[in-house]
Amino acid sequence: MPELPEIETIRRDLIQFVLSATIQRVEVLDPTVICELPPATFSQSVQGTTITNVQRYGKYLILTLTRPCGSASPQAGEARESYPLSPPGERVRVRGEQFLIVHLRMTGQLLLGTPSEQPPTNPTPRLIVTFADGRSLYFRDQRRFGKIFLARDWHTVPPLARLGPEPLPIGSDGVRRKPDLKDGCDRDKFAELLRRHTGAIKPLLMNQTIIAGVGNIYAQEALFRAGIKPMRKAHRIRAYEVTHLWAALQATLRSAIRRRGSSQNTYRDLLGRPGRAQRFHAVYRRAGQPCPRCETPLVGLKVSGRSSVFCRYCQH
Ligand SMILES: [Zn+2]
Repeated sequence: MPELPEIETIRRDLIQFVLSATIQRVEVLDPTVICELPPATFSQSVQGTTITNVQRYGKYLILTLTRPCGSASPQAGEARESYPLSPPGERVRVRGEQFLIVHLRMTGQLLLGTPSEQPPTNPTPRLIVTFADGRSLYFRDQRRFGKIFLARDWHTVPPLARLGPEPLPIGSDGVRRKPDLKDGCDRDKFAELLRRHTGAIKPLLMNQTIIAGVGNIYAQEALFRAGIKPMRKAHRIRAYEVTHLWAALQATLRSAIRRRGSSQNTYRDLLGRPGRAQRFHAVYRRAGQPCPRCETPLVGLKVSGRSSVFCRYCQH
C-alpha cells in the first residue's frame, strides 16, 4: 500500500509533468471509483479545468482544478453541494476552484501516457483523464479500493476531515495542513498523542486519525530506527525514547522520499518507474534474516493483526 513517501513522490511528479495542463476529457470506466457524484456530473465538472496545484495530506493527493474566468460549468454547483461548506470567512475560496482528491488505497496507480501510447492493460484503467495536449492520465487499481472525490473545500471531505497531523514539519516536502493544524506536529504534540493511548505503539503510528501518512512499512522501519519494539504500550514509552521515535519517523519518511518510495508491491511513480527505498529496508519483510545492526535473526509476529518484524536485541 502506498504510504506518505510514495504519495509524495507522485505529488512531485504531478507538479513536474501536469501542472498547468488543461483537462479536455474524462472517461469514468468504473463508476464505483467516484464518491458522492454521478460519473457524468463528475466528468462535466472536471472537463475544461486546469490543474493549478497539487498538494498532499497524509496518503491523499489533492489536485486544485481551476476553471478559466467566464467559462462556468453548468454542473459546477453539484460538487459544492456534496460537502458542507465551512463558516464564511474561515477560508479564502477562489471562485471557479475545486479540488480533485485521489486516494490510491491498496493498489491504485496514477500513470501518465503520451499521445501515441495505448491505454495500459491488466488491470485496465478505472478512469482516464485526457489533457488538451493529447497526453492521458490513467487511474489503475487491481483491488479497486481506491477512491476519487471532487469538492469545493477539501478540508471538509469526510476522510480528510478525520486525519491527524502530518508527521513532517511545516514547509518541508510540500506538505499542506488543515488550517486548524497549521502548527503541524512536533515532538511535544507527538509525546502528548502517545501519552493518551494505552494500546501498542505500532498500530498507533498506523492510525490515520492520530497521525497521517504512516502505514505498515514505515511504522516498522521507524520503530527499528528508534530501538522500540512494535508491541510496546504507547503511554509507557519514556520521554527520551519519544524523542528518538519522533526523529526516527521523520528520518525514515524523508529517506524514503529521497529514494522515490518502496516498490515491493504495485507502487509505481507517475511514469511507471519503481522506487528504490525497498532495497534499504532494515526490517520490513525481513523476518528470519540477520538484523542489520547485530546480525541476530529478526523476529516476525502479528501486532494488532498486522505482520511486524523487529530485532529482539536492538529494540526494547
Ligand atoms: Zn539487532
